[in-house]
Amino acid sequence: MDQDRLDLAVSKGIFSPDGVQNLGRVIVDEETLRKRVGELGTAITKDYSGKRPLLIGVLKGAFVFMSDLAREIQLPLEFDFMAVSSYGSATKTSGVVRIVKDLDLDLTQRDVLIIEDIVDSGLTLSYLLRNLLARNPKSLEVCALLVKEGLQRSELDLKYVGFRIPPEFVVGYGLDIDENYRNLPYICSYKD
Ligand code: 5GP
Repeated sequence: MDQDRLDLAVSKGIFSPDGVQNLGRVIVDEETLRKRVGELGTAITKDYSGKRPLLIGVLKGAFVFMSDLAREIQLPLEFDFMAVSSYGSATKTSGVVRIVKDLDLDLTQRDVLIIEDIVDSGLTLSYLLRNLLARNPKSLEVCALLVKEGLQRSELDLKYVGFRIPPEFVVGYGLDIDENYRNLPYICSYKD
């Protein structure tokens, strides 16, 4: 990570100086995020013209992205959230997913857009797609901020993708390691 960003984050108290040796290079900076989120919002606005989409945020990682994205969509929107936990280590998903918080709203005949932070193996998303499709939405699409190159085990149909990134573990802009670093305004790599 570059020294200015590091100094700023330490000075803002986002992380302590003793934890920073694990943070690597910046993968997506603030300006690039802002621009791409704007483009995604414009595309969604166009594609869903005349509709009232229901955005489903996958907690907790998607909350920052969803908040910025929603304000770039010029349509009436509704929101709901789902929390899932996947069994596995801190940095690898096992594919066995448990719903920790289910939706409050009914999906029947709704135009549903899942907002995901990151797709790695794709196992979490495959599970979510199967689960939500069974609730009879009118349409079901995915908007993922990040997709790791080459790691998905099955073909996933992702209508909107922010960035394709190398297969490194990343934190920031909602993404955590042990609940830390979600409030970094950019995305950077993290090494144990
Ligand atoms: P998948 O099921 O696609 O392998 O993993 C998806 C979930 O694992 C994401 O929603 C996220 O919670 C977590 N995850 C995968 N890769 C990363 C990463 O690089 N950084 C962080 N912080 N979480 C990740």
